Amino acid sequence: MSTLYWIRRDFRLDDNPALFYALQQNCQHAVFITAYETWQTHNHSGIQIDFIERHLNWFSDQLTKLGIKVSFIECDTFEQQISQLSEFCQENDITSVVANSEPELREKIRDNKAAQRLELTLYDADTILPYGAVLNKQNEMFKVFTPYKKAWVKTLQQHGFNQNYLAAIKQSEENPHQASNITFNYAKQDSSKWPLAHEFMQHVLPRFLNDKVIDYARDRDFPAIKGTSGISPYLTIGAISPKRVLYDLLSYYPHILEDAKAPIFTWLNELIWREFYRNLLLSFPNLNKLHDFQGKFKGFDWPNDHAKFTAWCEAKTGFPIVDAAMRQLKQTGWMHNRLRMIVASFLTKHLLVDWRLGEAFFMQHLIDGDLAANSGGWQWAAGTGCDAQPYFRIFNPITQSEKFDPDGSFIRKYLPELENVPLKYIHQPQTYLNSVGNHSYWPQLVDLKEARLQALDYYQKELNND
Ligand code: FAD
Repeated sequence: MSTLYWIRRDFRLDDNPALFYALQQNCQHAVFITAYETWQTHNHSGIQIDFIERHLNWFSDQLTKLGIKVSFIECDTFEQQISQLSEFCQENDITSVVANSEPELREKIRDNKAAQRLELTLYDADTILPYGAVLNKQNEMFKVFTPYKKAWVKTLQQHGFNQNYLAAIKQSEENPHQASNITFNYAKQDSSKWPLAHEFMQHVLPRFLNDKVIDYARDRDFPAIKGTSGISPYLTIGAISPKRVLYDLLSYYPHILEDAKAPIFTWLNELIWREFYRNLLLSFPNLNKLHDFQGKFKGFDWPNDHAKFTAWCEAKTGFPIVDAAMRQLKQTGWMHNRLRMIVASFLTKHLLVDWRLGEAFFMQHLIDGDLAANSGGWQWAAGTGCDAQPYFRIFNPITQSEKFDPDGSFIRKYLPELENVPLKYIHQPQTYLNSVGNHSYWPQLVDLKEARLQALDYYQKELNND
């Protein structure tokens, strides 16, 4: 009898139950199987795939030290993955396969199909509390975040969380070390500015927990300040376990769960948003197909002005905070959360472009692109989602800019053409630039007041048509 460990988004030695059980069964084989076409259909960005490739190579080295031989199989689709996996099992006399589960619908369908052909055992490891552990009185998933959060904290206080696999699996130095050199045949974008997860855990996270988490509630909305953790790419690809993160947070702040209103709780609150969105995907499968959460938006006819969408994508809207944010996304593969909210609101409200177009563009560029959090964030901004910002609340990009980039330093960093614009004009530089005969920046794409009224009117009309 022989067991195969199927590597997916779980490139880590701690909190990896599939690997743990594979080793208990003397597993000698692991496999990673690509799905290039499916990755493309899912809009996985080149920078995320590069980041995965780097982690896969690191992880393969670690598995070699555990006496596990890693095979790399290239496929285009999930269907092909299943056939190749079956063939691999037959050729290597493998009788059972273990893997960590993935909550997305298409991945689940693939796993169900695989389970019809193979003995496949799945373990849940990508949330702190198990899927479905936090339900309302009717035993259903919550549709609003705050009561979910309260129930989440209560469950954690009453039952704790599973720490059985948190100790990192020990490797033997006797096994031959062989540097792995796996290369994906995908249009990749360099991710090397992001250290590997084990370096992040050694240097970056402890610094954040030690120095910054205490001021997170104060600093997190200012894109010019490094006030957030930067952990999202690692959580997204499973290179860091969310349980490990909570474990470390509790070791610094053992009483953090006692007062959910305290500023120190704010960062944990964000990790709970992550759990909320992942559970929603499972409870409401249509969210995986990017259906509007609120039924009343069914048939909503988005005007989708192509020229306006293109200007947004190309950072040419003439609103510095929006354009600087879009440049941050394209240059670094990441965007600050406050800016994600601003640009998403601007696209769906002021420009009346379908949130799904923005969602896809984000996925194509983000290193942390994740179906649950991304579609959740977009639906929140568009007003179509579960616990969304109501459609009539519309962020003004200029007042947001004045509030969250008060000295314009973020704008100047990503829009060097505005470097010499005096602070007084930085959030709305056109009048000043015209007065000095400088035509290096774009005119405003829309009149904000008009576009706001138009959006309110349009949303109202479309929703009444329903
Ligand atoms: P921190 O502020 O340090 O937060 C810690 C962790 O909490 C994050 O890494 C993330 O895992 C989680 N988290 C924080 N905010 C949220 C949130 N609103 N929803 C769910 N989880 C959250 N996050 C993604 O991981 N992938 C995405 O594709 C994504 N797309 C988004 C799209 C829009 C329109 C919006 C408004 C938000 C999106 N977010 C997404 C959530 C959030 O912007 C990022 O998680 C955050 O900016 C990542 O930076 P950080 O790791 O420094 O976060």
